Amino acid sequence: MSGRPAWVEVDLSAIRDNTKATLDALGPGVRLMAVVKADGYGHGSVPVARASLAAGATWLGVAILDEALELREAGITAPVLVLGWTPPEDAVRAVRSSVSLTVADEADIDALDAAASRASGRLRVHLKVDTGMNRLGVRPGGAGLDAARALARAPHLLWEGTFTHFARADEPDEAATRGPLARFLGFIHSVRQAGLDPGLLHAANTAATFRRPESHLDMVRLGIGLYGYPPDPGEGRAGRLRPALAVKARLARVHPVPAGEAISYGGTYVTAEPEWIGTVPVGYADGYRRSFGNRAEVLVGGSRRPVRGRVCMDQFMVGLGPAASPSPPAATGDEVVLLGRQGAARVTANDLAAWAGTIPYEILTGWSRRLPRRYVDVQKG
Ligand SMILES: *Cc1c(COP(=O)(O)O)cnc(C)c1O
Repeated sequence: MSGRPAWVEVDLSAIRDNTKATLDALGPGVRLMAVVKADGYGHGSVPVARASLAAGATWLGVAILDEALELREAGITAPVLVLGWTPPEDAVRAVRSSVSLTVADEADIDALDAAASRASGRLRVHLKVDTGMNRLGVRPGGAGLDAARALARAPHLLWEGTFTHFARADEPDEAATRGPLARFLGFIHSVRQAGLDPGLLHAANTAATFRRPESHLDMVRLGIGLYGYPPDPGEGRAGRLRPALAVKARLARVHPVPAGEAISYGGTYVTAEPEWIGTVPVGYADGYRRSFGNRAEVLVGGSRRPVRGRVCMDQFMVGLGPAASPSPPAATGDEVVLLGRQGAARVTANDLAAWAGTIPYEILTGWSRRLPRRYVDVQKG
């Protein structure tokens, strides 16, 4: 293991508990797909997938084929769906690894069918329906029905499921998903009227899973909630989810700085009084954003401490209190929590997102590979 004094810590018991808490919110027979794209939202796709499957998830979702193959190479045999677009030349690899792909228009269907004819076995596919996001999918009218007919007769494709994705499920207004869900169900109705079987139906992301039970259908696709960040943390069952990821480091230096001195590049922070300054060996190249400079807070000794000056590529400084008293408030080697808990204090991905003007998704997926991942399991001890 790397000896670097900075790391990402992932609590796999939180992944299991979040999976179970979500399953508790689903009706009988509704399946749970653990979305582990982007290296499991930065948590490590293979350990997260294993933990979630152990707790009752039965499907895995990824964005690209390479992510699916990584799961297969690790020996994971559960069904895996690639949610994004896959070029037809990858069809043979998908068949060989028994990975399901998304098809999003009629031309795709023909190209994938032709490509899959070179593999032994049929390519499993889910038809994506665009109900208002205008990203990927067939339009739920005549064009969609033509694509569905083409899919049903494609000899080398196996129509396994049909799905849509909501653009605004995180909004409190129910109307944000009502229209898209109705369009999706209307399309499914017309598919069945045409004598076709749309397979497994799925629509809900985390927000819809907790707010729109009518959108659960046959399966929900749980992403951010799996990692402990529901759209509204106070809400009902979503309140039982807990964050799985922490980012920690050890102080590289603690020293008193006289009044009137500038900290870090550009001198954007000047001490107003003598101040204890700690140096943290993590920087923007690790995913601790430059926009956190003079804004974010970290935890040292169980309290929140402010970032002082600009974040550098590999380090940043924090204010540890007035240097009036001669005894340092912390020592070299002490633990600093950049994200997570320390005693009763905590910094969440929501806090960091607010400081950086972004969303927790971007914070969680932004920690670079330079930070080693450490897995802990508080329940197994
Ligand atoms: C990423 C993704 C999800 C998961 O979304 P969350 O908001 O993280 O739950 C679900 N469905 C699709 C198609 C996705 O791309």
